[in-house]
Parts: sequence; structure tokens; C-alpha cells
Amino acid sequence: MSIEKKENELSVYESMAARYDVAARKLGLDEGLSTYLRTPNREIIVHIPVDMDDGTMKVFDGFRVQHSIARGPCKGGLRYAPNVTLDEIRGLAAEMTWKCAVANIPFGGAKGGIICDPSKLSNGELERITRRYTAEILDYIGPDRDVPAPDMNTNEQTMAWIMDTYSMHTRHTETACVTGKPLDLGGSLGRREATGRGCMITADEALKRFGWKKESTRVIVQGFGNVGSQAARLMYESGYKIIGVADISGAVFNSSGVDIARLVEYVEKHKTVQGFDGGESIGVQEILEQECEILLPAATESVITSKNAHKVRAKILVEGANSPTTPPADDILFERGVFVIPDILANAGGVSVSYFEWVQDRQGYFWTEAVFNERLKQIMVSAFDGVVAFGEKHKVNNRIAAYMLAIDRVAFCLKLRGIYA
Ligand code: GLU
Repeated sequence: MSIEKKENELSVYESMAARYDVAARKLGLDEGLSTYLRTPNREIIVHIPVDMDDGTMKVFDGFRVQHSIARGPCKGGLRYAPNVTLDEIRGLAAEMTWKCAVANIPFGGAKGGIICDPSKLSNGELERITRRYTAEILDYIGPDRDVPAPDMNTNEQTMAWIMDTYSMHTRHTETACVTGKPLDLGGSLGRREATGRGCMITADEALKRFGWKKESTRVIVQGFGNVGSQAARLMYESGYKIIGVADISGAVFNSSGVDIARLVEYVEKHKTVQGFDGGESIGVQEILEQECEILLPAATESVITSKNAHKVRAKILVEGANSPTTPPADDILFERGVFVIPDILANAGGVSVSYFEWVQDRQGYFWTEAVFNERLKQIMVSAFDGVVAFGEKHKVNNRIAAYMLAIDRVAFCLKLRGIYA
């Protein structure tokens, strides 16, 4: 695939591969190794029969793509959405490999997805889909094989169902087979806010580099799901000035600062930021183009493209979401001097905390929140420093630097292990 291909035709996997190819070339990886590292180890497609509440039976398609086990068991989320595709899951699985390598945690990468619309399914139907999906992929998952976690439209309850189904088959409770579980079932303190906290830690590090103060750093957060709302709340509490927040249906802007504590209460009640009276209501596209120091996209893929990248007036982009920027937009942002903290670095707090949860489950010994937050900070700061130093050394932007650092680490392990024949 070539980076010149029309952007709207770029799939998630192709976007990943475009960046990968640039980074692999700069690292001078030989062609065979490069092809191997770009290709997933295994792709599982399952067809899940489910008894629906109305007495009919439906069949749902599900995927689990395991990209790499070079550095440890596969790790990655499971998403439920009507538009999930195998290609998307394939791209996100590879990104998990790079993300775990950037964070320097001992995991490979995977991703799963089921094509379904959770908003149209009852709790019982969701449970049956989840349990049967788990049963279908049972031989390929587990604490030493592949450890799923929540992602778009899945949550602690989904993980509890997977853990229980897996445990029923192994005949003992195996909490380390998934992460992002409820606290009482081997979940970890701080998990819920981990991705948002990780985003904030990387923003803090960027601020130190620029010598800026939080109080005068204006932030716009696009997306108010788990990642966006937690990032906005934590950044607001630590002194950043949040001037805009958007979700799928609306955006609120206030140049003197949005009261995030009040907004969180409002969203809990109304399920949207639309209609909040603490600022002016503006378009969800328009908010991306407002002047600010930090723009934090925390919703879905491809929100910053070649069509709007030249209108972005932020100085720092913190990618809370996976793949919010397309490869052509990367080039525009780089030319315009935007300091991009790429997804595989900025949102690595989620999987880092998954690692903590997995470690705690395996030890049967649980840490305090303070220990946990301190360790998260260590991981995020050293990942940030590693990426920025790599970029400076090789004179590439942060995105390519993050890919280069990750690929270098995975390739090193692969060379040590050799190819089994
Ligand atoms: N779904 C999250 C991500 O994309 C977390 C994955 C995990 O914890 O395994 O990074």
C-alpha cells in the first residue's frame, strides 16, 4: 500500500502499514523480517449463534487477530460495533504490539471485535454473545496466550462474563485471563481513569519541554467517553484550562474555561454534552479548529484528516483515541510544527494498567492506588522520553519515532528468539 493512495480509501490496517513501512525503512530492517513483523501471526474468525429474546436465533460475526507474541502473550481490547471489520481489527492488533513495546511491557499485540449494535441488544443477549464468542476462541486465549480487555462498547461486565466462561472451562477461577475486570473480581484500582491519566502525564511532559504553565494551557477534548471524560476531569483538577469539550452530538466552548466537574454531572444525567449551559454550543467539527495549546481527540478513528489538519490551531496533539489522525494529516501537522503525542504513546496508560492488573492477579497481591499511579507515571514518562529522544536522534516526527522505537524492540526480541522451523 502506498501513502499516496487517496486518504478516504485508507483502511485502519493500511494506515498502520503506511507508518510501519516508513519506520521499518528508516531502521533498515531487512525485507523478510519487515514483512513478518507487519503481518499478523493469526486471524480467527468466528460465527456466533445466539438465541435472541424474541425467540429467534441470530448469527454474529466475530474476530480475534493476534499480531505478535515476540515479547510476551498477546494483549488487546475487544470492541462491539456495527461497523467492525476484520481489517480494522488487524490494524489495531498491530498497533497494540507497537503500543506495548513503546510502554516496554512484556506483551505482544491483539485485538478482537464482534459486529453488533450493543444499543439494540438486551443485557441477556450481550451476555450470550460474549460467552459464546469466548467459548469459540477459548483455545487461543488465556493468561499466557492472549489477554483481552475492554475497548469500544465493552466494559467491566463484559470482562466478568469472559472471565467466568473461561474459568468454567478450566475448572478454576482464572482472573488473569482478561483485564479491565470489576474490582471485586481481580480488577485493579485506577483502571477506569488509567488511559486518561496516561494522556495527562504525556501532556505534562510536553509542557515541561515547552516551559509552559498548566493554568495558561488551553485544552480541547474531543470525545467524552471513558478516555475523554477522565482525561478532561484529571486535567481540569490538576490545573489545565479546558476550553472545549465535544461528544458525538454536540460541543461546548468557553474561552474562560468549562467547569468540568459540573459538565460531568450534566453528562451523567443527560448522556451528552449538548445543551450544557456552561459555555457556547458549537459544531463538533468546528471545535477541532479552535485556537488552543492542546487538542485531545479521544473518540474514534480518522477525525483529523488532510481535509481539516491545516485548520488545526493546537500546538500539541495528544491522541487519546486509537488512530484519530490519518497518515496524510500527519505530514500536514508535522509541517505546521504541531507536537504530536501519537496514540501508541499517549493512550498507552490503558494497557500499562492492564499489565499491572495481570501482574496483581498472577501474584494474588493487590497494590494501593498510590503505588499503582506512581508506577504508571514511571512507564509513561520513560515511554515519552524514549520516543522523543528517538525522534531527535533520527530526525523524524514523534509518530515515526514511536513506531521505530517499538519495531526496534520487537525485532530485537525476534532476532534473539530466531525463527522456529
Ligand atoms: N483497549 C485499550 C487499548 O486500545 C486497552 C487494551 C488492553 O488493556 O489490553 O489500548
